[in-house]
Amino acid sequence: MATVLVTGAAGFIGSNVVRYWRREHPGDRVVALDALTYAGVRENVEGLDGVEFVHGSMANTELVEHLLRAYGVDVVVNFAAESHNSLAILRPGDFFATNVMGTQGLLEAVRRVGVGRFHHISTCEVYGDLPLDVDESFTEESPYRPRTPYNAAKAGGDHVVRAYGLTYDVPITITNCSNNYGPFQFPEKVIPLFTTRALAGEPLPLYASTKNRREWLHVEDHAAAIDAVVHHGRVGETYNVGSGHEVDVEGIADAVLGALGLGPQEASQLKTIVPDRPSHDRRYLLDSTKLRSELGWAPRIGWDEGIAATVDWYRTHEEWWRPLLGRAPVVEGAGAVWGR
Ligand code: NAD
Repeated sequence: MATVLVTGAAGFIGSNVVRYWRREHPGDRVVALDALTYAGVRENVEGLDGVEFVHGSMANTELVEHLLRAYGVDVVVNFAAESHNSLAILRPGDFFATNVMGTQGLLEAVRRVGVGRFHHISTCEVYGDLPLDVDESFTEESPYRPRTPYNAAKAGGDHVVRAYGLTYDVPITITNCSNNYGPFQFPEKVIPLFTTRALAGEPLPLYASTKNRREWLHVEDHAAAIDAVVHHGRVGETYNVGSGHEVDVEGIADAVLGALGLGPQEASQLKTIVPDRPSHDRRYLLDSTKLRSELGWAPRIGWDEGIAATVDWYRTHEEWWRPLLGRAPVVEGAGAVWGR
């Protein structure tokens, strides 16, 4: 039995992991902390059995220190972040404040109180991008070469975590994960954006570089990877988490439209090319051998199955996503409308 503090718990991955954790570790208690930015949805976690929801910021060291002591927290899993790559182009300051200094505020509380494990969620995007036509992938040893404000802010947060691990003996682990998809993803991100637009019969905005591609992992498989690293990963280590399955921008649109049963003619009418966002990374691909060989993790949900289920979830949960549409800041000004 453990008490787990999950930060950013009302967001997409955080809320999926909270539900996963309660299912897989029913004896554990979860304290779900979230600042409820526009991307945080309180209903995603509030009221779940065994979950205590707290509205507040990870940057508030005193609040976190109080929570760590009051609940006797054993494990912290940090998802809290500004996460929308396109928005970061318009509001970089918010991203550095949250993803770098917010992470530091959280770690400061952890350093003062002490926990059994501090696990930090990061992204493949800190490694920079790869050419489309080479047989290469990023390992945990690859240098950090972020190219956008979001990536750079995440990279800064990772450095803070490692510094606290080495300097103050905070027992840290980090996972750098590829692009996630699944239910409860905010409709600003590409898969829910394409799905909700297609459901409304509205155009799907495809970046001009339609062959740029991402490695897609179902959020349930990400949750299982985090579980494995928190319980069995070596302190101080970083683990890449990826499926190896890459899909380009056009392939995502086709998969979504296909899952909704639209024929080729309707589909081609809905696909609309928009200008690339500045510094649009071409590709990220992770080498996840370390996680697979050391901890026996492997993804279970294939793309075809996962995308069909995800599109179906949005089709049947309009009451969840419809009210969120007006909440997302408009980012078309950055020459960009999708997230990662
Ligand atoms: P999200 O935007 O859906 O959720 C982020 C959550 O953090 C929101 O609920 C927001 O309210 C909360 N938050 C923001 N600032 C906070 C603060 N100061 N204190 C407490 N809560 C705060 O993002 P997501 O897609 O669920 O991503 C979660 C984490 O995973 C992020 O760190 C992101 O960088 C990382 N990640 C995401 C992906 C992906 O494909 N979505 C891939 C790899 C890594």
